[in-house]
Amino acid sequence: MFCYQCEQTAGGTGCTKAGVCGKNEDIASLQDTLILGLKGIAAYAYHAGELGARDEQVDAFMHEALFTTLTNVNFDLKDHIEKVLRCGEMNLRAMELLDRANVDRFGSPEPVRVSTGFKPGPGIVITGHDLLDLYELLKQAEPEGVSVYTHGEMLPAHAYPELKKFRNLAGHYGSAWQNQKKEFDEFPGAILGTTNCVLIPKDSYKDRMFTCGIARLPEVVHIKDRDFRAVIEKAKSCPPLPGKEGSVVLTTGFHHNFVLSIADKIIGAVKAGKIRHFFLVGGCEGSKASRSYYTEFVRKVPKDCVVLTLGCGKYRFNHLDLGDIDGIPRLIDMGQCNNAYSAIQVAVALAKAFNCGVNDLPLSLVLSWFEQKAVAILLTLLHLGVKNVRIGPSAPAFLTPNVLAVIQQNYGLKLITTPDQDLNEILG
Ligand code: SF4
Repeated sequence: MFCYQCEQTAGGTGCTKAGVCGKNEDIASLQDTLILGLKGIAAYAYHAGELGARDEQVDAFMHEALFTTLTNVNFDLKDHIEKVLRCGEMNLRAMELLDRANVDRFGSPEPVRVSTGFKPGPGIVITGHDLLDLYELLKQAEPEGVSVYTHGEMLPAHAYPELKKFRNLAGHYGSAWQNQKKEFDEFPGAILGTTNCVLIPKDSYKDRMFTCGIARLPEVVHIKDRDFRAVIEKAKSCPPLPGKEGSVVLTTGFHHNFVLSIADKIIGAVKAGKIRHFFLVGGCEGSKASRSYYTEFVRKVPKDCVVLTLGCGKYRFNHLDLGDIDGIPRLIDMGQCNNAYSAIQVAVALAKAFNCGVNDLPLSLVLSWFEQKAVAILLTLLHLGVKNVRIGPSAPAFLTPNVLAVIQQNYGLKLITTPDQDLNEILG
């Protein structure tokens, strides 16, 4: 947290006037956490707002919580802890709001197999999280004969009935955000970035790239009012995509509505001892080499266990064929990062069915964090009292040792170690 009085990090080593602003390092850390959580909520609430859905409680909390972070207004450590947990509660409301808005508008997702090949002809690749942008693009590109390919967090869009009905929703291309420069460079058509997690483009493709909504990039044309004519024209002027088979077929769309519709089957498999444990392995992806932990972890999950996933962290392993247990896939992709709401709904329903608390379920969360939505989701889990969550690849730098220790003592939050050590500790 930058202090505008001493013009240093408040309470940090460079702070020369701690007596003046009165902030200590831990309050500054909680304020940073709060601001990052609010940014995550803002993303979800913004998408919901674009679909006409609002939650006054969420809006009011955003104002109150941001106000709390002003200089010289709140020096109460306990109140900051409460606000951070309420941020998690409000994020749950925001994710629920967005989920409902998406389902109302685009239908309830159902599992779908998605090709990673190309159809011959002009194509556009769309990245980000905004399903309404994708809907409008599909609608405008369909009569022009232009295919649309999802990238990154757009993969789960294929599972929504009102999106998959477009014949020009042609498949999925590429992986997570940090690979954009290589993948967009190699994609011959037009490119559209809709939300966060867009990278400044290379010169080689910036004239084929566009942004819309909240996203903006230097020297890249920005589309207003979802009028995608320029993107479609650019796709038509680019060399046509060569038709080719994909190297893999990806499966996504395990929304909680679907998973709960087969809950009896899942519960039966657990009671029969066929499913020993569930792992939720997901979150944000990043470029650190140590993130190979998540690929290795999923590879090493025993065959009588099921892996749930969401967010773009899944690109570390969603190409793996883990098979199934009595027809229940061992790799269940629940969707985007905001579909953490689906994972929570499934966990709550399973706890009810087994007449226990979420912490007593044979379920472990192994999350990867990178940006603000992941922070908001972690706060939601803490708000719900979910314990023993593992996070990686490293501890968030904005948590002071004291704040991290409090979270670890009260919630058993752990940092990932090695796949073998963590699996042994979880499964015993
Ligand atoms: S999951 Fe996180 S890192 Fe990945 S695209 Fe979404 S917000 Fe960005």
